[in-house]
Amino acid sequence: MADCIFCMIANKEISSKAVYEDDRIIAFYDMEPQAPVHVLIVPKKHILSLDDLQAEDAELAGYLMLKVKDIAKELGLENGYRLVNNCGEDGMQTVQHLHFHLLGKRKMTWPPG
Ligand code: 5GP
Ligand code: ZN
Repeated sequence: MADCIFCMIANKEISSKAVYEDDRIIAFYDMEPQAPVHVLIVPKKHILSLDDLQAEDAELAGYLMLKVKDIAKELGLENGYRLVNNCGEDGMQTVQHLHFHLLGKRKMTWPPG
């Protein structure tokens, strides 16, 4: 979709430091890391948010989730990690293209802010 930062990253119109990519998803380092490892895992299909996921996206969503542990392993997150999705206004979503934050290499706190 035009004017979508993550579509532009997926289409290589904006550069990013990718850690994983295939025909359906891309994972790249967040430009404002909140942990020593902070990667965004993004479906290439333009889906606005978790709230906009449709039944037809079930396979893609499951595929992405199953890739999380592989990407985490590749990044050396053997001691654990946190996967975050910010959804909508109250969730503080700032980029309107579905993405999951994979954070690791530090001890997380709970509850989140
Ligand atoms: P959200 O707040 O929507 O959950 O997360 C959006 C994330 O995208 C933020 O952590 C922000 O730092 C990151 N981000 C926004 N624009 C870019 C960009 O152009 N490149 C990269 N690598 N990260 C971005
Ligand atoms: Zn998009």
